Amino acid sequence: MAVLRARALAVAVGVPALFAVLAATLTLNTQTTPARAAEPAADPFAVSSTAAPFSVTRQSADYRPMVRYFTIPTTDDVAFITIDDGVVKDRKGLRYVEKHQLPITSFISTWTIKDQADFFTRISQWGSIQNHSATHADFTKPSTDLNHELCYSQRALHKAFGSTSWMLRPPYGAGGDMLATQITAQGCGLNRIVMWDAVVQNGHVTVSGGKLGPGAVILLHFNDHLEKDLKAAVKAIHKAGLRPANLADYLPAASSA
Ligand SMILES: [Zn+2]
Repeated sequence: MAVLRARALAVAVGVPALFAVLAATLTLNTQTTPARAAEPAADPFAVSSTAAPFSVTRQSADYRPMVRYFTIPTTDDVAFITIDDGVVKDRKGLRYVEKHQLPITSFISTWTIKDQADFFTRISQWGSIQNHSATHADFTKPSTDLNHELCYSQRALHKAFGSTSWMLRPPYGAGGDMLATQITAQGCGLNRIVMWDAVVQNGHVTVSGGKLGPGAVILLHFNDHLEKDLKAAVKAIHKAGLRPANLADYLPAASSA
């Protein structure tokens, strides 16, 4: 209860910056999402709960609770290929994407861009480039500077690619349900949180629920076997009677109206 009262008080007095820090600290006490070393760990769906965002007694004027999308609501026969991080820039994977004109959503940790923005521009030329933090820090750790992870990275993405990202994928899939994350994210233009319901690891596809369906979001990583993973993803998509589509078309920036 002390946590709840503190949250309500912090919101009521309207000090979002202070509250962001406070909430980040307090949320650790109630956080049930385990921190993991990499998104596709042994149990890639450990955080795939569909629980509604928490409620608060009062909300800051501009804040809206954000849904975490594990799949995208649609009746179209489409699935979405997303690739995370960015350390390894595999040319064979890029060639495969360009040959088949695949719509790829790149969730980039901006420290990986360095002077190779062109790789990501090309691999997402039929998709979009979105935000996967600045340094891949765990949002649930109190030492994490959410403003840096969410807002500095927005500026870095804009500087590197000339576009404004609106989707966030939290590192490790953790902390996207935290009030501090959502308030900070919205403050710098991020208004969609995208998780995943399928993972490709080393050519092997694992689907939450066992079967890809319309609106499936598939997680890959920028690694040295990207081509193999892309082939596996495309094969699974076609086998399910679906086609790859551009996530940005199905999950545009939320209206601020
Ligand atoms: Zn990641």
